[in-house]
Amino acid sequence: MSDGLMIEVANLTKRYAGHTAVSGISFSVERGEIVGLLGSNGAGKSTTMRILSCYMPATSGTVRVAGLDVFKEADEVRRRIGYMPENNPLHPEMRVREYLKFRARLKGLGWRRSRERVDVVLEQCGLTDVSRKIIGHLSKGYRQRVGLADALVHEPELIILDEPTIGLDPLQIRSVRQLIKEMSRNQTVLISTHILPEVEMTCNRVVILYEGKVLAADTPDNLRRLMGNGSLVVAEIAAPRIELQSCWEQHGEIDHFDISVTEGDYYRCALTPSNGTDLRPLIYSLVRERGWGLRELTLKQHSLEDIYVQLIRPRGEEEN
Ligand code: ATP
Repeated sequence: MSDGLMIEVANLTKRYAGHTAVSGISFSVERGEIVGLLGSNGAGKSTTMRILSCYMPATSGTVRVAGLDVFKEADEVRRRIGYMPENNPLHPEMRVREYLKFRARLKGLGWRRSRERVDVVLEQCGLTDVSRKIIGHLSKGYRQRVGLADALVHEPELIILDEPTIGLDPLQIRSVRQLIKEMSRNQTVLISTHILPEVEMTCNRVVILYEGKVLAADTPDNLRRLMGNGSLVVAEIAAPRIELQSCWEQHGEIDHFDISVTEGDYYRCALTPSNGTDLRPLIYSLVRERGWGLRELTLKQHSLEDIYVQLIRPRGEEEN
């Protein structure tokens, strides 16, 4: 095993009575990374996380966390992982501090160490002011923070968070994302989500799951680059339509174009390059040469959403 790897998953398969939820997946996560497991409902994200966190056995394959086998060395692996499951099962009748202390003791921390660590995570997760409140009386955002504090209390090397921002309002989402980023200074983080902007904002790398298989694993930037030869340029130009059309037709660098009417004398031209180059310098010099008016020249980068849709489409998913 390479020293830099926190997670190594090889040929992992999980079957539930007759249904294959995860089918021979392999991926790895380096220490210090924030990796997003991205996939729509039923893609196999929670199943993968439960296996990684020793909550569930696999049907076949190997999984190592910090070099340890999750199936043979489960107790040791659990000590190194902080896992926040989907629908985090907190004890709603307990008070925040009391609950976190109880969890810390359950995770094997001594009395004094539990007290120290609870104070640290209360502060880290912005819970100090509500530490005496009953969990069931807290808002969903605060309950989510209690779940994060629970995952962090025993100072795990790896934090696994299943859909950490689901059901939160935009402000709560922002603060939970900020917390996740702060955690990654000292720890490795694996989060699952079906929200693409979440991955773009939070993660250094993304593993895309679809129907129990890995479709792609890379940085969001590299995934966008993979789609590179589609980078579209939009230009709004004041010129006779017929001249625009013949100009775009004459240039081999332009694979295809679309001209539409906008307000004033301007036409909106959407231009796709034939070889992946950025068409903006060419468009700018053509516009200057011909003395046309120009009021917009923009490179439209692919979003992760485009990539996701493109990766999935050949496999026949219907659009909804
Ligand atoms: P979601 O975003 O909806 O939580 P997910 O990507 O986390 O989805 P999983 O929960 O891992 O997906 O489920 C993968 C597949 O396995 C789904 O088809 C699901 O119905 C099935 N599945 C999950 N848990 C069980 C179970 N305990 N018994 C039988 N089938 C299950």
